[in-house]
Amino acid sequence: MKMQDSNKTYDVCIVGSGAGGGMAAKVLTEAGADVVMLEAGPFFDSAEGDMFKWPYQSPRRGANTHRPFGEFDAAFGGWEIEGEPYTKENGTEFGWFRSRMLGGRTNHWGRISLRFGPKDFKRKSIDGLGDDWPISYEDIKPYYDKVDKLVGVFGTNHDPSLGLDNEPDGFFLPPPKPRAYELLVKKACDRMDVPVVPSRMSILTRAHNGRAACHYCSQCNRGCSTYSNFSSPPVLVNPALETGKLKLVLNAMAREVITNDEGLATGVAYVDKEDGKDYSVKAKVVILAASACSSARILLNSKSSRFPNGLANSSDLIGKYLMDSTGAGRAGIIPSMMDSIPYNEDGIGGMHMYMPWWLDNSKLDFPRGYHIEFGGGRRMPGYGFLGGIHKYNGKFSYRDGSERANGGGGYGKQLKDDYRMFYGAMVGFAGRGEPVALKSNYCEIDPNVVDKWGIPVLKFHYKWSDHEKLQAKHMQDTFEEIIHRMGGFPLGEKPGKEEDYGLLAPGLIIHEVGTTRMGSNPKDSVTNGFCQTHDVKNLFVNDGGTFTSMADKNPTWTILALSMRACEYIIDQKKQMNI
Ligand SMILES: Cc1cc2nc3c(=O)[nH]c(=O)nc-3n(C[C@H](O)[C@H](O)[C@H](O)COP(=O)(O)OP(=O)(O)OC[C@H]3O[C@@H](n4cnc5c(N)ncnc54)[C@H](O)[C@@H]3O)c2cc1C
Ligand code: SF4
Repeated sequence: MKMQDSNKTYDVCIVGSGAGGGMAAKVLTEAGADVVMLEAGPFFDSAEGDMFKWPYQSPRRGANTHRPFGEFDAAFGGWEIEGEPYTKENGTEFGWFRSRMLGGRTNHWGRISLRFGPKDFKRKSIDGLGDDWPISYEDIKPYYDKVDKLVGVFGTNHDPSLGLDNEPDGFFLPPPKPRAYELLVKKACDRMDVPVVPSRMSILTRAHNGRAACHYCSQCNRGCSTYSNFSSPPVLVNPALETGKLKLVLNAMAREVITNDEGLATGVAYVDKEDGKDYSVKAKVVILAASACSSARILLNSKSSRFPNGLANSSDLIGKYLMDSTGAGRAGIIPSMMDSIPYNEDGIGGMHMYMPWWLDNSKLDFPRGYHIEFGGGRRMPGYGFLGGIHKYNGKFSYRDGSERANGGGGYGKQLKDDYRMFYGAMVGFAGRGEPVALKSNYCEIDPNVVDKWGIPVLKFHYKWSDHEKLQAKHMQDTFEEIIHRMGGFPLGEKPGKEEDYGLLAPGLIIHEVGTTRMGSNPKDSVTNGFCQTHDVKNLFVNDGGTFTSMADKNPTWTILALSMRACEYIIDQKKQMNI
């Protein structure tokens, strides 16, 4: 391979500009480090996004013709990317979602911003499964606090009487007021002792750190033109660029980390996607933040005579213990919300309330918890809106008790009537839960397949265990009970054992973590508690790869906090001349 070297040696090279990479760039440049960032995607600025478009401004009405979450969605990528394949072991499943753009998946993520709680770092001590993290909640708490204050997150500290002691307090902006259907869900859940509390989302309900408050257009997944929700470019990368210390190299696909005879990282080799040629940058410290599986892939591909099975892989654990959140869902129609009176339910692009995990797993037949996200109401109609609506006719009578005949659909008066009746009457529930970390769930390099730049690709091996399946069963029972208690009717058939209770395939929740897990012992972990690889002291992994276990919470707030903590450690170690 012929590479073109830049002569400059940077203090730090960061691979990836999403949550982990963006945070690293901000902290390090503001501390005065000279940083180069390699990002596989093009420039993106959500100020130029599609937030203000109406569905009728497109002949496709916003259909997902080329993006999995719709035409206006801010993700350049998806589970499949042309020229960037991955493979799966027969009989196993995994969907690998990637965004190729400045800011990565933070451009269109759900912004559900949950801290892990004290128990989430010590799960093995509680139930004997998996491993404890080498750090505790107290170690990471100051960084969660700083992330809350820097980025901005709305929510509330929970009333202690709710017993949600694994949902730590934070520094919250005021939450938006609940929508009507959210209050109805809460009313039903109160009778089941399921807590429904304000959600915690990184969306600004007040102007914050120079960014405008949300104006409640409800289109957060399109990227926010006023920077009122969190994405890495405006909140992290731009401030880093403003220091004058960040060199951004876009469309640069990192191939491998380069090392010297002492086994230290000296830089990163990459392919320029525009001219297809190989280049490299030199740096005294390398931070991989390319997302959990991409960073594992780069390390596994960084082979040399000194590191024949990949860099920082003396434990042989890179790629192992891959985890994604569990996910299962169910929707229902709530007759009391049919034919409803229009009212203003503008708000953020997501839920104003949710249900954190509320039960004690020692009394259940599965070991780890889940939280419930829910949606409904009178959202902006787009392509596919209320598809199959005519199927509800014949099942519900009008408010006055008169019978509503079967049939409808197509077009005309009946269809208009149907829309008036059913618009806003649906509620959907989605459980997001903690899987148990298993060594048998992993990614490795496929020896037979390369991507369009000749870089060997990942092969996935992932199967859910009974722990996750039984958790999904509990989700389904809970959803059905809530819908019934709301006086509603669940849609479709309740998925049974043969369908794993509706448990979605691994990777579909897009919370993959664990592939370079942290630990105290170099024999059974890849990094230490500061995300520093045990084998190569000037090499760090600042994405979800370092998670020792998942939680029933979404991962990004923890990625941000860990990356900030790792960078403060790098600054400190530099001062002490340890790296
Ligand atoms: C639809 C959706 C909803 C989500 N909702 C939530 C949520 O509500 N809450 C939550 O906590 N999480 C959510 N997530 C997950 C969240 O987006 C990720 O946890 C987070 O973005 C991970 O940050 P990261 O920096 O590790 O990776 P990413 O954000 O994926 O960034 C990685 C970057 O690295 C670049 N890159 C990859 N490989 C290379 C390479 N070889 N060379 C150079 N650059 C490379 C990529 O192009 C990308 O820009 C959601 C994700 C999706 C897609
Ligand atoms: S709802 Fe608020 S944060 Fe979301 S895109 Fe609209 S203005 Fe931005």
